[in-house]
Amino acid sequence: MAEDTALSLLQQYWGYDSFLPLQREAVACLLNRQDSVLILPTGGGKSLCFQLPALMLGGTTIVVSPLVSLMKDQVDTLTGLGISAGYINNSLTEEERRETTNKLQEGEYKLLYVAPERFGSEVFLNTLSQSPLSAFVIDEAHCISQWGHDFRPAYREMSKLREWFPNLGIHAFTATATEPVRADMVQALNLRNPNMLVGDFDRPNLLYRVQYRSDMLKQVREVVDRHPAEGGVVYCISRKDVDSLAATLKTHGYNVLPYHAGLSNEARQANQEAFITEQVDIVVATVAFGMGIDRSNIRYVIHTGMPKSVEHYQQEAGRAGRDRLKAECVLLYSGGDVAKWKTIMGSPTSQTDQVAHDKLYEMSTYCQQMICRHRFLVEYFGQAFEHPSCNHCDCCLGEYEALDATEAKTTAQKILSCVYRVEERFGVQHVAHVLSGSHSEKIKQAGHETLSTHGLLKEAGRKNVVHWIEQLVHQGFLMKEGEYVTVRLTPAGAALLKGAIKDGKEPVLAKPVKVERTKSDRRTGGEEPLSDGDQILFEALRKVRKTLADEKKVPPYVIFGDVTLQDMARSKPRNLQAFRGIKGVGEAKLRELCPRFLPVIADMLGIQITETEIQQQITKLGEAPSTTNRTRRPTAANQLAEKLFASKTPFEEVVAATGMAESTVVKYLCEFIQREGISDPEPWITRQVLDAVREAGTRLNTVRLRPVYEALNPNLPHQEVSYAEIKIAMVLLGNMG
Ligand code: ADP
Ligand code: ZN
Repeated sequence: MAEDTALSLLQQYWGYDSFLPLQREAVACLLNRQDSVLILPTGGGKSLCFQLPALMLGGTTIVVSPLVSLMKDQVDTLTGLGISAGYINNSLTEEERRETTNKLQEGEYKLLYVAPERFGSEVFLNTLSQSPLSAFVIDEAHCISQWGHDFRPAYREMSKLREWFPNLGIHAFTATATEPVRADMVQALNLRNPNMLVGDFDRPNLLYRVQYRSDMLKQVREVVDRHPAEGGVVYCISRKDVDSLAATLKTHGYNVLPYHAGLSNEARQANQEAFITEQVDIVVATVAFGMGIDRSNIRYVIHTGMPKSVEHYQQEAGRAGRDRLKAECVLLYSGGDVAKWKTIMGSPTSQTDQVAHDKLYEMSTYCQQMICRHRFLVEYFGQAFEHPSCNHCDCCLGEYEALDATEAKTTAQKILSCVYRVEERFGVQHVAHVLSGSHSEKIKQAGHETLSTHGLLKEAGRKNVVHWIEQLVHQGFLMKEGEYVTVRLTPAGAALLKGAIKDGKEPVLAKPVKVERTKSDRRTGGEEPLSDGDQILFEALRKVRKTLADEKKVPPYVIFGDVTLQDMARSKPRNLQAFRGIKGVGEAKLRELCPRFLPVIADMLGIQITETEIQQQITKLGEAPSTTNRTRRPTAANQLAEKLFASKTPFEEVVAATGMAESTVVKYLCEFIQREGISDPEPWITRQVLDAVREAGTRLNTVRLRPVYEALNPNLPHQEVSYAEIKIAMVLLGNMG
């Protein structure tokens, strides 16, 4: 039955043995052509919900995605799994587009990614209607709604789909959807009685922390240092802050690049690329950075200032830990952040302004209220939080301590009294200086050394006092006012000062507790941290991944996620067969990629394993299953490749034009060169490479790839000559006799 088939495909292609919550239901909707809305948080496993049924259905599943820059990576990922897929967007040339359309009409793809703008064209819709299709999936479907935070007019074109394709299921996928956005999606797409699948919004793998910003650089470095050699994003509010923090971190020896809208297009592109390909660990950025970042192993996100809404925070912090492994989200804030946003927003004159101000207030509540961060976020987005404690946020981990009610009240009164004594004419810092007993010039000049409240909270330390003043502002006992942002008493504050509690509102004050944080607490809960030995193996496997990624010109996460490498490091498979038990290893990658990881693991275990043995193991595995709708006969792509080889088209262009995997094109090219008896390396490889391969082969007396590869690449992981080039060179040399 369908479910058994689905499970065996899940194992065969993705190497997972069970479904994540709602995946089974979502897959069923696609298979049954039952319209659906799927809402799962980032990392919830949405892609699989349409990729797996696409394998089972006849025809092509059309996936609409706004993230044009990610389409190629998504297609590369699928190709790597052995699933035929393509994309159509503006980055394609006219010719490539025509070729893709042809292949679509011939039913060559299981999945085709399409930019929403395409649906504006009748010609395109006509082409689609003449092609064998299986379903429509609208990814990031919230973009269709004006209520959402990234409304895209082009998404409105999707309204036509129902009329054009009355017999196909339409499925809306998103990570964020409030009630009005959901209603909007259903209506705009004309969904028919859709199955509403709404997952748990909580991201249990994220560890949330909020800290009062006292020494930004030190606080940032504390977090970064907990994650050596791991990917992280540091968000700043302004471009100026980005530049200066990036520069400072650099002088301290961190591997970091800046990103903001003020940089040239090329610089932005290059910096983003460096981060995705793991050449750089840290990006310091404004919120301009993020859309289109699919790196799944971002291990921390730091905000050096408060975002303007919880929605923004959730989206930005949510970029961490997409691979479902532990990640840390730290927010540094100060009371000044609220004021800064208020200045930017101006005073509210319309209802929309008021909404923005309310959102700002909610965000500052997240910072100020010492309740479980997971609970706060889940409840903010309208879901109940069932657990008493999450054990995965600063509050639940006991990193804050609430003052008891009496102490909180007397402390608050001391602060209120001081504000009153300085005649409500000074700001937070000044009041804190007085209370903590400072003898600075400014305090002396103001004559505040002699106040009865001077030094009243000396024990607590100035940082805590500042924090408490901010808490009282947030709780409505104090307010900030005017150009110089002076602190004043509110009516509730004035009442409390006299010992009265108004409307049952009592002050709640908390202070951070000193806790020793170790490196290992970055992986609390869920999976166990790697042992030191396994961590070393993990790092070695990461290097292999990076080399493979560079060879194939794809980001490392397209090769394997961290989950898979960690599982390899723990389980240490001794032969290829044993790799079948590793999470995230499907049949295609087992044959294509695992032979490169095996020697590293064998080495660690002290086992000798030769290239020949590996080849034998590959043969024993048998043929990988293939998904092209029509297998084993010359496909259009295949014929096109031959034609292009004959006209001496460079290799990369053949890959782009045919949409075939690079490895497949290499295979065909080698066959072609052999068949035609070609000995001229141009345009596929240079004469230098040919000569170098000849020289190394002769010197080492071998025609095996690996020794030659190693000889020509003395500085691995930096690669000078690829496996593909060596293969081609060897076939050419074979023709020369
Ligand atoms: P989303 O698009 O919802 O953010 P992804 O599709 O990127 O999520 O999936 C998140 C991670 O979960 C990926 O690393 C993916 O490989 C993994 N994943 C998906 N389905 C499963 C499953 N059934 N079992 C284990 N891991 C899975
Ligand atoms: Zn918690």
